[in-house]
Amino acid sequence: MSKESQANRSDEVQRDFIRDIISKAVAQSGDKMQVHTRFPPEPNGYLHIGHAKSICLNFGLAKDFGGICNLRFDDTNPAKEEDEYVNSIIEDVKWLGWDWGENLFFASDYFDRMYELAKELIRAGKAYVCDLSTEEIRKMRGTLTEPGTNSPFRDRSAEENLELFERMKNGEFPDGSKVLRAKIDMASSNLNMRDPVMYRILHATHHRTGDKWCIYPMYDWAHGLEDSFEGITHSVCTLEFEDHRPLYDWFLEQLGIHHPQQIEFARLNLTYTVMSKRKLLSLVEQNYVSGWDDPRMPTISGLRRRGFSPEAIREFCRVIGVNKQNSCVDYALLEHCLRKDLNKTSKRVMAVLNPLKVVITNFPEDGVEQLEAINNPEDASQGSRKVPFSKELYIEREDFMEEPPKKFFRLAPGREVRLRYAYFITCNEVIKDDKGEIVELRCTFDPQTRGGDAPDGRKVKATLHWVSAEHAIDGKVNIYDHLFTTENPEKVEEGGDFTDNINKDSLKTLNCKLEPSLADVKPFERVQFERLGYFCCDKDSTPDNIIFNKTVGLKDTWAKILKQRDNQAKQKQQKKKS
Ligand code: ATP
Ligand code: MG
Repeated sequence: MSKESQANRSDEVQRDFIRDIISKAVAQSGDKMQVHTRFPPEPNGYLHIGHAKSICLNFGLAKDFGGICNLRFDDTNPAKEEDEYVNSIIEDVKWLGWDWGENLFFASDYFDRMYELAKELIRAGKAYVCDLSTEEIRKMRGTLTEPGTNSPFRDRSAEENLELFERMKNGEFPDGSKVLRAKIDMASSNLNMRDPVMYRILHATHHRTGDKWCIYPMYDWAHGLEDSFEGITHSVCTLEFEDHRPLYDWFLEQLGIHHPQQIEFARLNLTYTVMSKRKLLSLVEQNYVSGWDDPRMPTISGLRRRGFSPEAIREFCRVIGVNKQNSCVDYALLEHCLRKDLNKTSKRVMAVLNPLKVVITNFPEDGVEQLEAINNPEDASQGSRKVPFSKELYIEREDFMEEPPKKFFRLAPGREVRLRYAYFITCNEVIKDDKGEIVELRCTFDPQTRGGDAPDGRKVKATLHWVSAEHAIDGKVNIYDHLFTTENPEKVEEGGDFTDNINKDSLKTLNCKLEPSLADVKPFERVQFERLGYFCCDKDSTPDNIIFNKTVGLKDTWAKILKQRDNQAKQKQQKKKS
């Protein structure tokens, strides 16, 4: 099925290979299994659109199967984790529309239980304390074609290991001097199984446990335990953990505790952006953006500030679906889903971003007319509003040309156009300053054409948006472009860095004129500026300093891309035939 036909069927029941696996498991249990998933972010940064895919998948599975989804902070690395990140993650998952109820957990709450289970493995002769350095461990690990070498500390007795492990915990040894390793197989064809590290010494303060611990569990050891403790049935993660699955399984088998099924899917990549938290953090730290929620960032908070709705993001996640092939999704598809939602929901208003004054010469000097404007032609329940019309107006500078080329149908000397919800006007005179720049147009209006067509049936070829000069409010508009100039910012020249591909012109700020109904616009309110695109009131906007962020233009580039792809495919087929 093409992406478009997928995109147009929002009411369809979702099917994918993960839902198939879970359906089977539920059926095999005689419908007794309660599906239990989790979303396990590490609180070392803000969530991005890739995380949204995982969130919608995990919470969506729980919803579809009448199960539960936990929000669990995988906070096992004290060095990079902070409460600020925890709070932002909670806010973002909620905003996306998901609810974990009572099921909010922190991996750090399990540190004691994990420690006890590690001792159990030691007693069973399946884990040992190793004094090799990280570098030595790496060297002795072998390669894909050569087996590794056993550590000289591999055969320590259980008593000695237990004693050393306890002393590690008590902080008797410096960072990096010892680790606890699983005793599996240094000749395993899977490198992850070659006596992986379970604990390392780290004298660091943890955002929740403070200085209680001097040892911290490694991901592979900790993650399966967290899943097991919480009774997770299906542990869904991204493809890079496929090679870790044997280890995930090994730990749980050795311990004989509840054993969730790990299932991997492809992570989301998007054109014109980077998705790793480490890279996003460096954009923030190096001031390429104003913060994690800069409207150019692919973070959930950035997208929210840009004007994305949770519905649009959820729809995008539904449309891309889940599969096992890593790929890169076109940013235009994300915008397509966004437009689809904003078109239905956004109130239409008029704003002029690049104002040119128009004087209606035959309109009374102090006259003001309140004209009826429809708030949303897609949704009659949004009603209508009044917009004032007066002698002096602003129109968009781009909507006038003194010497129009053939295909320019908007305003020009001697030409008549319609002003949206108002009248037909005809341009009679162009006023310029000393430098020859156009500063004003003198026009006449036809009182017979109020709010619609001319009674004599004469047609105009363009309808322009406008605001009344006297009534307009001044505002600022931020216009954004992609943060990177290339589709794949990670692709750089030898010795380069992804920041080499930063787009230096990704933000332009304009002073604009807004229709008066926007006087009480609230931060995060989304509107459509007629003919210009969708805009969202910025979080820092105040009635004295109204700021809008351009969310997205009106033209759907995704449809065009699909058409191009279709044509290319047809051409290929024709070539094959001939
Ligand atoms: P990053 O590489 O951006 O730092 P991460 O995988 O380290 O991401 P986590 O906090 O560990 O970030 O991720 C939480 C969950 O979100 C994990 O289950 C992870 O697999 C998933 N996830 C992260 N990035 C993506 C992505 N681009 N697409 C789909 N799922 C993702
Ligand atoms: Mg991670």
